[in-house]
Amino acid sequence: MIGEIICVGNEILIGDTLNTNTRYLSKSMTTLGIEVAYQVVVGDHEERLLEAIETARRRSDVIVFTGGLGPTYDDMTKETVAKALEMTMVLDEEALDDIRRFFELRKRTMADANRKQAYRPSGGRILKNENGTAPGIYIKNEETHYILLPGPPRELMPMFENEVTPILEVLSSDVITSRIFQLSGIGESDLAEIIGHIMDVSDNPRIAPYAKLGSVNIRVTAITKTKEEGKKQIEDTTALLMPYLEPYCYSYDNKSLEEVVVQMIIEKNHSIAIAESCTGGLLSSRIINVPGVSRIYKNGFVTYSNGSKETWLNVPHALILKEGAVSEAVAIAMAEGVAKVSDASIGVGISGIAGPDGGTPEKPVGMVCMGFTINGKSIGTTFHFNGNRKKIRDYSVWYALTTLYSLLRA
Ligand code: AMP
Ligand code: MG
Repeated sequence: MIGEIICVGNEILIGDTLNTNTRYLSKSMTTLGIEVAYQVVVGDHEERLLEAIETARRRSDVIVFTGGLGPTYDDMTKETVAKALEMTMVLDEEALDDIRRFFELRKRTMADANRKQAYRPSGGRILKNENGTAPGIYIKNEETHYILLPGPPRELMPMFENEVTPILEVLSSDVITSRIFQLSGIGESDLAEIIGHIMDVSDNPRIAPYAKLGSVNIRVTAITKTKEEGKKQIEDTTALLMPYLEPYCYSYDNKSLEEVVVQMIIEKNHSIAIAESCTGGLLSSRIINVPGVSRIYKNGFVTYSNGSKETWLNVPHALILKEGAVSEAVAIAMAEGVAKVSDASIGVGISGIAGPDGGTPEKPVGMVCMGFTINGKSIGTTFHFNGNRKKIRDYSVWYALTTLYSLLRA
């Protein structure tokens, strides 16, 4: 089954709207066993849309359209598909009732233009829209499947899940099941060394590593005839990989590293406080993203100046003079200081040179020192990151989390 996505809308062509629908649809269709081979964007322009439809029907089995189902004159997807397939437009009474009800429920009067939305190509059927007035359309014509969906993502996504998935599921005889192993503390080449012998012999399930900021993940994808078979293959491959991945794998069920770290802090009855300089609160922000964090998160300080490190964290003035603000000794003093003033069992201190200025041969841009203290036992570590200011700060947060993870695991 070859799939094609056609997005209709000038706003996408001119760069006003980011084309998130294509990404969503590609991922969803792929999971359903449809090989997405083409992604097209075309403006609100009848002739060009007709051309796109003609091309698509020659090369694809499933064509999913998004956009151009609105009530205004520039919305023409339905009408143009009908024209291409030589169908007439007919009023769908049930769709009209749904649209009327949509307005009644909201105590609004229905505009005449909304009547237009109740029309469908004569050979098509309506896909219900629970979140808006534009119904979707499904047409099967000469072995080609046409699926027309509204543009707004909050209308498109539920419609896809509820109305389109059941249609597509039965089309492809393949089921695609996948699992992502999220790793920390290992690079791509070391990974190839430890699981290369498994990757080399496995075509299906496919085992594909892909690099991410500061880490590498592995996606295992199984193409099978049934869901059960897919699940089994994924479990079997998991059992094969985990002995090698165990020291690095923090999750294979889509949990973020901060979720895993927060969970460990809760389970070990710890609490945490964080003092940040160059990361300006990014680490706290990541950790606070996790629901339920209030049980373990005590305090976060952004102590950017030397003075604030002394005032709020009791870092000794003499230590900063002797070692410099970016040093393991000061990062440890920050961690110990913030743990103490916050009455937390874990303290983290981060101090670094994010650039672009301020580097010296001895302490170059990208050098970031971190201190960690757990129940009074402290360690310091120094990283050297490449990249711009944002990259260096993002890397710092990632490595602070991975260090916390490995300290808590130990
Ligand atoms: P339409 O169905 O053409 O009236 O689209 C209505 C709105 O949906 C547009 O103004 C966009 O905000 C949004 N939209 C349309 N196409 C896309 C797309 N491909 N990705 C994300 N949003 C979209
Ligand atoms: Mg539009």
